[in-house]
Amino acid sequence: MRFLELAGVQVPVIGQGTWRMGEDPSRHAEEVAALRRGIEQGMTLIDTAEMYGEGGAEKVVGEAIAGQRDQVFLVSKVYPHNASKKGIPQACERSLRRLNSDYIDLYLLHWRGQYPLEETVEAFERLRDAGKIGRWGVSNFDVDDMQELAAPACATNQVLYNLEERGIEFDLLPWCQQHHQPLMAYCPIGQGGQLLAHPTLKQIAARHSVTPAQVALAWIVRQDGVIAIPKAVRPEHVDLNAQAAQLQLETGDLEALDQAFRAPHRKQRLAMV
Ligand code: NDP
Repeated sequence: MRFLELAGVQVPVIGQGTWRMGEDPSRHAEEVAALRRGIEQGMTLIDTAEMYGEGGAEKVVGEAIAGQRDQVFLVSKVYPHNASKKGIPQACERSLRRLNSDYIDLYLLHWRGQYPLEETVEAFERLRDAGKIGRWGVSNFDVDDMQELAAPACATNQVLYNLEERGIEFDLLPWCQQHHQPLMAYCPIGQGGQLLAHPTLKQIAARHSVTPAQVALAWIVRQDGVIAIPKAVRPEHVDLNAQAAQLQLETGDLEALDQAFRAPHRKQRLAMV
């Protein structure tokens, strides 16, 4: 695994997502096992949210990290409708109970909502002072939101980014790099959909004896200050994702990918799911 620095700590460039976990009790054991398998292989950053399975995913994470809390960099997110002075500490306590932990390493505002940013930031800072969270950040913020936030203490911005959705390369990604705020790419393999069947991706994968998903991940994390958080339950997916951090794409591969998936030439609205 490779690492990068995020607000004073070293985190792996490939972590683990958890959306859609904790929704089906019959899959609980499989999901816990997948996260544990990923941790063993160095994907120690785990991304979750109070929204996922309405707390169900946080419970899966809590069970997966039991006995190894210190090995893991835990990321969770607060709903915008809870992001008030009163709501944030309460939401955080609920998340901590489900996670069975006394702190969250990185706590994010899931997307912008009705509460003023200053109020949310103040509540985050209080949680940090109280030791409930290690650092805080945002998600689904475009450049204008980041400029308005203007907070060097913001540790990351988690946004949709993959070969099919390259809009952030025009402005948001360089902005985050200039401000030394690592960017976390969600849906890095396009939710396992059409992207993985793209002929160019398949050709490059075959040349390196890897899979299209591994090429998609390696393409993201080759860049400075970018972390990918693929979600995987199938054990073979977990293994392949962890191994993708070692894959080195060549100049010819990058040129072919640029031909197949065009970089933006002007501002695009921030894509979201
Ligand atoms: P991903 O791009 O991570 O795709 C997940 C899908 O791809 C699953 O169906 C998974 O299958 C499959 N998959 C995983 N690894 C492989 C592989 N090596 N080869 C083939 N298929 C594979 O989509 P997500 O939407 O889950 O995004 C990742 C994470 O980002 C989320 O889980 C969540 O933590 C975060 N996120 C954040 C958002 C935000 O607003 N901040 C919004 C959306 C996501 P299987 O599980 O069966 O192994």
